[in-house]
Amino acid sequence: MRPTEPQLRQNLTRYGRRLWERGWVANHDGNLSLRLPRGRVLCSPTGISKADLSTEMALVVDGETGKKLSGELRPFSELNLHLAFYACREDAQAVVHAHPPLATAYGAAGIELPHPFLPEAVVSLGASIPTVPLALPGQGAADAIAPYLPDHHALLIAGNGVLTCGADLEQAYLRMELVEHLCTVAHAACALGGVQKLSSATIEALLAAHVKAGLAPRLREVETKGRSQKLRTQSSEAQNSEAQSSEELQNLVNQEIARVLGR
Ligand SMILES: [Zn+2]
Repeated sequence: MRPTEPQLRQNLTRYGRRLWERGWVANHDGNLSLRLPRGRVLCSPTGISKADLSTEMALVVDGETGKKLSGELRPFSELNLHLAFYACREDAQAVVHAHPPLATAYGAAGIELPHPFLPEAVVSLGASIPTVPLALPGQGAADAIAPYLPDHHALLIAGNGVLTCGADLEQAYLRMELVEHLCTVAHAACALGGVQKLSSATIEALLAAHVKAGLAPRLREVETKGRSQKLRTQSSEAQNSEAQSSEELQNLVNQEIARVLGR
């Protein structure tokens, strides 16, 4: 059963508060949104600490133009980044932006996260978590992320934290959590000589599992037919692939673990 709008407002408040409790936002940073029926979007307002977000503060905006439809406060200025995700992706039903410290540090340093090095993260997030170059807020920021939206659930943005999408707010939040965890592990591994990236055979098998689990990005029909066709082709290839059997996948993962541990 679809959650009601009051329940969705509670979710927005709950996950906003979690961002603050985790120390992933400071001052008025961070923003959350989710799709409502009839092309509308529910979002957090600007100028509010996520610690103080309440259900009645949430705004309803037009999902295409961002124009406010109801609510007392103003929408946040980075709303265009959220709307860009919704315009491009069928599976993006919620978007979260925050500044978790380690992931934000990677972006601020202009360093690519050395993903993938943990097999499970490939099944959840795919094989790439890009760092988007620094851009000025506004249209420049939307233009900077646009090339990455079709193929990624999570982006590190130089000078501006992390942006994730999900099938709901929980998934978008958990993807943010996973990105911060990966950055924390990668950073800790620096003192030990750095992470060992997975082999391409393992990545391929894990990507097949990613597609089979229904976790691959799904583009909106308005996107180019070629891309949609490509995704469908990849999906059916993955389903037919020998590497698709969970036993073979487990073997590959075991081999990878043994390789990394030097056994
Ligand atoms: Zn930000």
